[in-house]
Amino acid sequence: MTNYHTHSTFCDGGDSPEAMVAAAVDRGFSAIGFSSHSDMLADPAAYRAEIRRLADVYAGRIRVLLGLEAELAKPYSRVPGEYDYVIGSHHYITAPDGGFFAFDHKPEILSVGVRDHFGGDSAAFVKAYYAALRSTLPLDFEIVGHADLVRKFNTRHPFFDEGASWYRDELEKTADAIAASGKLVEVNTGAISRGWLDDAYPSPLFRRLLRERGVRFILSSDAHSAKALDCAFDRFGDAEAYVESPFPL
Ligand SMILES: [Zn+2]
Ligand SMILES: [Zn+2]
Repeated sequence: MTNYHTHSTFCDGGDSPEAMVAAAVDRGFSAIGFSSHSDMLADPAAYRAEIRRLADVYAGRIRVLLGLEAELAKPYSRVPGEYDYVIGSHHYITAPDGGFFAFDHKPEILSVGVRDHFGGDSAAFVKAYYAALRSTLPLDFEIVGHADLVRKFNTRHPFFDEGASWYRDELEKTADAIAASGKLVEVNTGAISRGWLDDAYPSPLFRRLLRERGVRFILSSDAHSAKALDCAFDRFGDAEAYVESPFPL
């Protein structure tokens, strides 16, 4: 069991990295990777030093990797060797009018953003998200983070039809582009632990389209606490062709 998508007190997580590592050891994990938000890291040097210290302290018991969840809606460049791996995610959207907002923080922020910057056209917003995701696939990162994060509020606060043909077209175009990029896609259970969805990102349909194109998956919980380290892993562990250890030791 592994989890390469975790947050700690270095960004918006509730537990220290050491508490997360200890919990992962308790649960029999073979590896844990930290992926602090690139735009929330107050002290990147201290973060890197602490994760490397833990990798030394826990050597022989668990692999501890140093990663980053890069905000690809903001300027991004990578210093070679700085991180073991990078998850590329979009939590913000840039609208055609230049408006810029976080679409996954609160349903109210999303609905005001769509109203004010997309003329109330939810489909235009969703299409802009997938276009932004596709446009950043050539960047230097390994894992596509929560690929259909636009679904987050769509169960409890429906704002677009996931069964519409235009939506399936977006998923197919995006699946083609991800397959061509060779990047891994995470099956991310983070919306289950937060109570927003009863399924992972990507949706079953999107996972099927990706799998048909040979895309490989990695299972993660996007844990913001030690408690959520393996949230719903029992529901997804056998369902897909997962990569167990994608990163070199
Ligand atoms: Zn994220
Ligand atoms: Zn995350």
